[in-house]
Formats: sequence, C-alpha cells, structure tokens
Amino acid sequence: MKRNLLLTPGPSKVPVELCEILGKPIIHHRTPQFQQVLKEVNDGLKKIIGTSSDVYLLASSGTGAMEAAVSNLLSPGDKAITVEYGKFGERWTELVKAYKAVPVVLKIQWGKAVTAEEIKAALAQNPDAKAVFLTQCETSTSVTPDLQAIGAVMKSGTAVLVADSVSALGTEPMAMDGWGVDVVCSGSHKGLMLPPGVGIVAVSAKAIAMIASSTNVRYYFDLRKSKKALADIDTPFTPAIGIVIALNEAIKMLLSEGLDKKQEYYLKMARAVWAAAEAMGLKVYADPKFRSRALTAIVIPEALNPKKIVKTMRDVHGITFAGGQGELDGKVVRIAHMGAVDEYDILTGLSCLEKVLKEAGHKFELGASLAAAQKVFNS
Ligand SMILES: *Cc1c(COP(=O)(O)O)cnc(C)c1O
Repeated sequence: MKRNLLLTPGPSKVPVELCEILGKPIIHHRTPQFQQVLKEVNDGLKKIIGTSSDVYLLASSGTGAMEAAVSNLLSPGDKAITVEYGKFGERWTELVKAYKAVPVVLKIQWGKAVTAEEIKAALAQNPDAKAVFLTQCETSTSVTPDLQAIGAVMKSGTAVLVADSVSALGTEPMAMDGWGVDVVCSGSHKGLMLPPGVGIVAVSAKAIAMIASSTNVRYYFDLRKSKKALADIDTPFTPAIGIVIALNEAIKMLLSEGLDKKQEYYLKMARAVWAAAEAMGLKVYADPKFRSRALTAIVIPEALNPKKIVKTMRDVHGITFAGGQGELDGKVVRIAHMGAVDEYDILTGLSCLEKVLKEAGHKFELGASLAAAQKVFNS
C-alpha cells in the first residue's frame, strides 16, 4: 500500500495516537466529562498562546476564526490596516471589506514580512485605524514577521493587533500578553496536528472591550456569546466534540515535550530544508531575515514544471507537498515542518523530491539534499 505522508502546511500530519482518539465513539458535550476536557483545552491553549485572557473555540476552519475577529472587532465604516505579503494577508483585506469596514492596505513585497517600523509609519499616517490585521506565518510565502517588535510599537496606541496564527500556533513562538498581541486566530489542522474543525480565537481585555462596542451584525460567530458560555465552561453551540477531545491530547503531547524544545526542533527542520534546497541548486523563496520555522517554499524553475512535480510526488509516491498560491502558483513547492512532522518525514520527502526532480531533468547530485539535511540534523 502507498504511504500517505502529508507534508502540507494544513492539514498537516496527524500522529497515530491522535488518530486513535479521533476514532472513539462520540460523547455528549453538555456533560461534566466534556466540561473537564474544555477546561483542560482552554488552559493548555492559554499556555501555547501565552495569555491569561479568554480563548474561544469555534466549529470552523481557520478562516472562521479570522472572520470572527473582523466581524466582532470592527463596526461598519471603521478603518483598519491590513498587511499583505501573501495570499492570507489578502484574506484580511477581503474580510474587512465584506463587513463594510475600510481597509488601508499595507502591501509588502512577497518573500518579505512587515517590520515594526513599517507598522509604526502606517499607524502614524492612519491614527484613526481601529486595528492592524497581519499574518504571523504567511503560509503562501513561508515568512514570519517579528511580532514582538510590532507589539512593542503598538502598545501605547489604541489600535488592536490581530495575528493570523493559523499556521504558526504551536510551531512559532507566541507570547500574546508579553508581546502585546490583542487577538490570536488559529485552527486545529496545522501546528496542532489534527483534522480541521476547531477554530481558535484568543482575545485581550482591550479586544474584549472593542468586541462589546462593535455594531456589526453577527450571529454564529458572535464572540459575546462565546464569552458568556466560557464563563460557564461551555460553548454557545455544539462544538466539534471529537476534535476538541483530541485537541486536549495534542496539547498535552506538545507541552509534555516542552514547547521551547519542540520549537527549536521545528527551526532545525527548517534549517535542514533550507540547506537541502541549496544543495540541489534550488532557492528558498523567503528572504533569510523573515524565514518561518513552520514551512519552506522552494523555488522550482518553471521548465521543471513544479505543478507536475507536486502531482507526481502525491499520486505516484504518496508524499504530499503543497504547490504555490496566488502569484506563486506554478513557481514553488512548499514543505511543512510543523506539528507532528519529524526529521525522518523530512528526509523521506526530500528523497522523493530528488527522485522526481531528477526525472524532470534537473541537474544535481543524487543524495545531495539528504546529506545537507543530515548534517543539520546531526549538528
Ligand atoms: C491555513 C491558513 C488559514 C486558514 O485556512 P482554512 O482553510 O480556513 O483553515 C489562514 N491563514 C493562514 C496563514 C493559513 O495558513
């Protein structure tokens, strides 16, 4: 039987331990048993996010968490800065427009991420902006900004800082309270190693006040309802029960290994992939100053047909990389090193990429990427 190795940046690989939990019969959610799970999940997420404030669970993919942030924070006509350095930053702009607020788009060259200075300048030009929406790990380009520095320049202002951490949470460091991030949006199917189904929104006191005063229309994703339910260790509607139960175990797995240590390991895998790409004569897309530890986009010459490379790896060999999105469509392959992925998954993925690149006519020495990666892993 063919292996089915997901090295995609969402959904990501689900470890066997979690598959077993996901296969168990469902329990009812309005029970002390489920309440205990909810409480543990909430406490665990607070640790991973670095907050003592509220964390709400939604039954949605990551975009639902983003939509909840926009529709609950803003009112029609409000101005908000949306920062675009990839496909997901563009989603913030679309969401702000969808809720009749006014996006001020800060466009950053793809491959780079926004800097604290650029945020500071944008806020100085738009002192009436209610919020800054940005992406912690821009999955389309594999970059990450210095959120701590951005939080520092925003701390004294009135605007809230909202991070799309859908692909970053668990993998990239996050200290929401310490850095001054007001809202963290995420989901279950990336660094948290589960299928999609749970959206996560963490909110600071400043954000809670803004949510209370928004005049926007909301119903299913009304975070005021989430807040009220959370006070009774409950959710306003039926949660994704099975995934919440597995999330509890996923969080325990991440925390028991030590999150700092785990995140250093993700960085090591990232460095191994960067070295591997170079060893095959390929370029890592992201600017070295902004490279993410959650995934890597590798530029593939168009003559080698990157789309076909992804397809052959998946359909012939059972190993899934992601292709490019937006302006990188047909230009890159993306490999995730988040969640449950380990160095042997990376080596398996690289050896398959080598085989398929060789077949496509790329000139390099077979085994070069594996040797380069192994050197990093064994350093
Ligand atoms: C995956 C992802 C999302 C959400 O996508 P969904 O398909 O709704 O889960 C949002 N932002 C980033 C950066 C992502 O990687």
